[in-house]
Amino acid sequence: MALRRTHGLVVVVTGFTLLLAAGCGGETPTATSSASPTALPSTSPSPSPSPSPSPSPSPSPSPSASPTPSKSPTTQPVTEKSYVLQRTSGSSGVALTFDDGPHPTWTPRVLAVLRAKGVKATFCLVGTQVKAHPALVRQIVAEGHTLCNHSWNHEFKLGTWSDAKISSNMRATNNAIHEAVPGAPIRYFRHPGGNWTAAAVRVARSLGMSPLHWTVDPQDWRRPAASTISSRVVKGTRAGGVVLLHDAGGDRAQTLSALPGIISGLRAKYVLIRLPDTL
Ligand SMILES: [Zn+2]
Repeated sequence: MALRRTHGLVVVVTGFTLLLAAGCGGETPTATSSASPTALPSTSPSPSPSPSPSPSPSPSPSPSASPTPSKSPTTQPVTEKSYVLQRTSGSSGVALTFDDGPHPTWTPRVLAVLRAKGVKATFCLVGTQVKAHPALVRQIVAEGHTLCNHSWNHEFKLGTWSDAKISSNMRATNNAIHEAVPGAPIRYFRHPGGNWTAAAVRVARSLGMSPLHWTVDPQDWRRPAASTISSRVVKGTRAGGVVLLHDAGGDRAQTLSALPGIISGLRAKYVLIRLPDTL
């Protein structure tokens, strides 16, 4: 991915291909973490930080529009982002986030563990799942957790669409959530697969949602052993961290089994918080 700036279009396309093959949350097959809660996107192997080469019908700057199209190897961190992602809980507390639900099998079990441990978390919901299981959305809200929009149907390439289509997708998801829980605050959006683009960030913000990324990804969707998931999270977390987990998208038995250890391990050092509903 080091060549992504000078070969933006090719690498971005390749990146999407890999991500589609990789599954939901994954960017790379390794556990990732960011030591600093204020880290910029350049610290992780995000797939497409360059200006979007999406096939938008509207005029858009080409990837070579940079004022310094140097061909020399990059020696400095990539900082000229056209967008900034939220990669911190906003405080010293650590936020657990659960993606891809609600799921009728796994979400109630995750909620039960969180309830038993007295932990509030954040759930990044998929619109189709919300539509199918509105009672679970009501339960998530009733038990004090924070909501996050995770697209209508987990569209990995959402960010390459036109602003109008991105907005329609995000609003459909929010509308489904509000059909289940009228007036529920939805202050976060997380792009499927972490495939952020400037357009996705821009539209999310225009709808009052912060582009929520993560700082710790234990790759739980790959179904490693529960002990592996737990140790990756505990070792990789720093103050202000945002932990990526999944309560849907496949068999989440390992994630569920890892959860008590994650909670106790993190609580040895940090306060676990839900993300605030006010930005
Ligand atoms: Zn996802």
